[in-house]
Amino acid sequence: MVAVPNIKLNSGYDMPQVGFGLWKVGNDVASDVVYNAIKAGYRLFDGACDYGNEVECGQGVARAIKDGLVKREELFIVSKLWNTFHDGERVVPIVQKQLADWGLEYFDLYLIHFPVALEYVDPSVRYPPGWHYEGDEIRRSKATIQETWTAMESLVEKKLSKSIGISNFQSQLIYDLLRHAKIPPATLQIEHHPFLVQQELLNLAKAEGIAVTAYSSFGPASFLEFNMTHAVELKPLIEDETIKSIAAKHGRDASQVLLRWATQRGLAIIPKSTRPALIASNLASLEFDLSEDEIKTISGFNRGIRFNQPSNYFPTEQLWIFG
Ligand code: NAD
Repeated sequence: MVAVPNIKLNSGYDMPQVGFGLWKVGNDVASDVVYNAIKAGYRLFDGACDYGNEVECGQGVARAIKDGLVKREELFIVSKLWNTFHDGERVVPIVQKQLADWGLEYFDLYLIHFPVALEYVDPSVRYPPGWHYEGDEIRRSKATIQETWTAMESLVEKKLSKSIGISNFQSQLIYDLLRHAKIPPATLQIEHHPFLVQQELLNLAKAEGIAVTAYSSFGPASFLEFNMTHAVELKPLIEDETIKSIAAKHGRDASQVLLRWATQRGLAIIPKSTRPALIASNLASLEFDLSEDEIKTISGFNRGIRFNQPSNYFPTEQLWIFG
């Protein structure tokens, strides 16, 4: 089995550098996918309320523990706070619901999914709530990040999550958060691939002791199914001639080069696949090393192209998170 190194978090806990992403893993297969990923050697699972599959993912975990594949304390389960639960008093109850869905007593890491506070939607009315209040209406809530973060800090005190962190935050808001945080974010999860290198944000995270997790490591690949214009029009990174020739030199797949580029730069990765061969291949990306020159060449692909933003999924004049 591939040995996965740990990243030491500022909370004192170890986080596996390679994990498994759960976005778009269908409810019909999620339990088996998680079970088989544990069998393949994955220990970190990256979930979220918004992925709508926490119950099934939890069933996969429970079965793996029952069958003796792994112990709970060997796993690192991540989940995220959806935008409609940013009001301070909503945080603990929704985490308790998410833990119950997973069948867990604690998360290893719980992140603010997006720095966007939306009006509360009762989970008994609609779950997961999504971006819209009703129809195509976006309703923002007045909760500040300080209010939400203070409630996130209470999760640690209540032992509902061992570490807490943020996702999709950019520098200015992180500096603001650090001004009031009693517990600094342990991790920052961001879109990161050769088309979106975000070097300054990585510099900030390093200087402040915040570990960074990359998502959508294959760039446009994850967004083709939404027919996003700039994802469809770009040549897939795994078909790029430069990436392919680096891969050939190492006797590896282009996908593994993209993942290794991120892990050698110190980031954690959470690729997702439901195909056993790719699940194994993504983990095995740790088994070779790129040269410094190859890493530089791949970083040179940077074009500042971001796929995962609300305005790419639906027409909006009200949500410009990354402006
Ligand atoms: P990904 O990079 O894991 O996968 C993109 C696509 O590539 C998928 O369709 C997958 O089937 C395919 N793929 C996977 N391995 C491959 C391989 N070896 N060769 C060829 N194709 C392969 O993209 P993702 O799902 O967008 O991101 C990974 C995880 O990051 C998600 O599952 C989720 O957990 C997390 N995420 C978080 C946020 C956030 O806002 N915090 C946003 C997006 C994703």
